[in-house]
Amino acid sequence: MSRTVGDRVVHTNSFTQDVKKNWTNKLQSIEMGKDFRVNIGDVIQDNGGTRWQLLSIRGQGTCCCLYKAQCIGDPRSVVAVKVFRPGDNFALACEKEWDILQIPTMQQCRQSVRVLDRFTWNGHPCLMEELLDASVKETMHQAPGGRLPLFTIQLFLRNLLGVLEHLHSAGIVHGDIKPANLLWSPEQGALKLIDFGLSFFDHRPDMRYLQSPGYRSPETTTWNNSHAQQGEACSATLWSAADIWSVGCIAMEIVSGEKLFSSKRGDAEPTVCPSCQGSPTARCQYNQLIDQWFDRLAPTVIGPAPSYYDYVLFSELKDFISRCLVCHSSQRDSASQLRQHSLLNRLIVPSIHDMMLLPSPILRLENVADDIDLDNPAYREGIKFSILEICASFGPVVTCLLPTLEPVRGRVYVEFQRSEDCTRAVRKLPGMTFNNRTLVTAYLPLSLWACRQLL
Ligand SMILES: [Zn+2]
Repeated sequence: MSRTVGDRVVHTNSFTQDVKKNWTNKLQSIEMGKDFRVNIGDVIQDNGGTRWQLLSIRGQGTCCCLYKAQCIGDPRSVVAVKVFRPGDNFALACEKEWDILQIPTMQQCRQSVRVLDRFTWNGHPCLMEELLDASVKETMHQAPGGRLPLFTIQLFLRNLLGVLEHLHSAGIVHGDIKPANLLWSPEQGALKLIDFGLSFFDHRPDMRYLQSPGYRSPETTTWNNSHAQQGEACSATLWSAADIWSVGCIAMEIVSGEKLFSSKRGDAEPTVCPSCQGSPTARCQYNQLIDQWFDRLAPTVIGPAPSYYDYVLFSELKDFISRCLVCHSSQRDSASQLRQHSLLNRLIVPSIHDMMLLPSPILRLENVADDIDLDNPAYREGIKFSILEICASFGPVVTCLLPTLEPVRGRVYVEFQRSEDCTRAVRKLPGMTFNNRTLVTAYLPLSLWACRQLL
């Protein structure tokens, strides 16, 4: 049996890297203003006296800049540091985010970003949070046509509604649900919600402009345009249902690869449609819009020869979105109701596209061994040893499985201690010759690994 390890063909996910690089360059070019006295390379200190170096910009908003930071003396320890602009208003925004993330229901919620510390540095209020991976927006850039596959759609919607259920039960509206504020945690196998800068208590909005264009509910558009004139009367309609409208917009976007309401296409911000302003029995025009989008999407989403299962899923997706995009906020489903929707409770098996998109600490190697190798215990152990040796060059490995039973016979699964080591293996191993075969890599979702359900 050959054990030749040929020349490694370094696989780079160039498209992804380009997107990230361009995005970072763009961010670095945005001027934060003269009063912003924190820069890449600076070393800051948290409340416990630990020093952290700011390595790169991970995101930027109007009130703060999010950095990736590395612990001085422990380079493997990395966090996200959110540096707010100096000033009382920004100190309040920082305090608000800290307070919301300290609420017990949010601390118990695994889809909520973990906040680690709050301190002031050089006059800037700062929050230290766990470092997360790609946003939904970045994940869409990596998917063919910008459309996410079904397992990922279901997982993302489950996670988003999970955190909203916790937030809404505390009477808090997030106020800025959008793909850029939802980040993937490879270590925990969950999508997490970030950025609570626009959050407010039900019926008590405290900011002038809420929700981002494209994800803004009709009642928020009214608030943003006219709260100066209407004051209290207008705020009465702003409650957690505004977030649900955004959920509908995101669901349509990840299914279709396009924004449902896009200012680039010249779409106006949604307002209550003429049907909903008139007869209570008339059909909402946004429902008709969803029908049109799904008619157009049918050939790409369900393919030329759809099965009964495809039809069911397709109609469930449409029904789910229709329940979010209703003009009158009181008629939208709540996060708890949507979590019970059949779309989210159906068993969907991850496709190879899903397993390429969602990083996890579990490496899945295909095309590793043939029947002769697998039937011989000594050869099997030899293969396992060689794979472990190769993988250990990327980082510490917890365990390795080489199943001999169908349908996963011939595949190898390697659990890494850290997901970023697994990501390097997934990117660098494809094309490498092992045992006279060319390796094929993917990630196994953590939820499957936890119950040793191998694919
Ligand atoms: Zn309507």
